[in-house]
Amino acid sequence: MADDFFRYVLPHKAEDHHDVVFFPYWRFKGMLFFCGPSGISNRFVDVSHQAVVTPYFPISVGVRSQAMKLRFPSTDMAGRFLKPRLPFKEVAANFEKRFGKSLPKPILHQAHIGESLSLIYSPFYLKDKLYDAILNKPVSATPSEVFNIDDFDAESPHWHIHFVSTLCPNCGWDLEGQRDTLVLICKNCDSSWYPVGKKLKPLKYAQIPGHGDNTIYLPFWRIRADISGIDLKSYADLIRIANLPKTVQKGWTDVPFRFWIPAFKLRPKIFLRLASHITVSQPRKELIPELPAGRIHPSTLPVKEAIESMAITLAQFMKPRKTLMERFNNIHIDAKSFTLVFIPFNEEHHEFIQHDFQIAINKNVMALSKNL
Ligand SMILES: [Zn+2]
Repeated sequence: MADDFFRYVLPHKAEDHHDVVFFPYWRFKGMLFFCGPSGISNRFVDVSHQAVVTPYFPISVGVRSQAMKLRFPSTDMAGRFLKPRLPFKEVAANFEKRFGKSLPKPILHQAHIGESLSLIYSPFYLKDKLYDAILNKPVSATPSEVFNIDDFDAESPHWHIHFVSTLCPNCGWDLEGQRDTLVLICKNCDSSWYPVGKKLKPLKYAQIPGHGDNTIYLPFWRIRADISGIDLKSYADLIRIANLPKTVQKGWTDVPFRFWIPAFKLRPKIFLRLASHITVSQPRKELIPELPAGRIHPSTLPVKEAIESMAITLAQFMKPRKTLMERFNNIHIDAKSFTLVFIPFNEEHHEFIQHDFQIAINKNVMALSKNL
């Protein structure tokens, strides 16, 4: 879970003479996976919760986080920004409890994946009562004398929104990256960069070469990990653990096992299916350490999140299911190194198809995933 987060403001329509108060809400957006004895359940969530415990303000922003355009706070925004008092950790525990409630017990493992944490300020103002400044309607019947707005700590909206430099640290050329992408590419010196804090770090990347005019390259995090509690070091081990209908060939014990996790956001079910499918396929063709010349789908899922999803991916393909429960608790996975690999898919009428690994992704599903 990121400890760095964005702050957003919901725009309001209050008249100028009202003193607007911005009340903070923690927002969690992402995929939740729960692994139980009978399989994996998932949810896509976009939820919010008060960052200050109080009975006077609404408990969450409801559907506004999805339905309204969010803005970054700026110093010219008039109003009081109330300071969050409740740490996100406590709110997160609450969310988990809520989503875990409906699931069969025991829960062996859970993961939240997706760039997910932010603070949303929702606007209010005080008259005879507390008013919602978006609807210009009272929040409740409680008269405003009952609570004192000065009991809440305020802060000014001088938060740094630092945008990482977009010049290539290597050659000074303009870096390219689609909107929302995490990976920036220099087409001049053929390098690739990844923001870590305020700096850009070089990223190891490679491609599996594609052919044909309709190729689109989808990015995957290929991750090498130390795995204990289960024998999963090689391709031969994978065949046993996933119970693949294949005979282990000579040399396969020397082919190191790696996770292949999508580096872009998808609906949770499809994300897990794709991670599991490509990981089980273990692409073994020689990789070319060059950027593809063709179209590249933006990388929007940080490697940190991909690492978080390794255990759930493993749970997805381990067979037989019956033994999962006793074996899974002892498994530890420790990521060691990663490379961003671009895998070619053929764009067809309704789907992106990867013929070598026999998997198709519906184009609508990809398009809809942009907003996740
Ligand atoms: Zn460059």
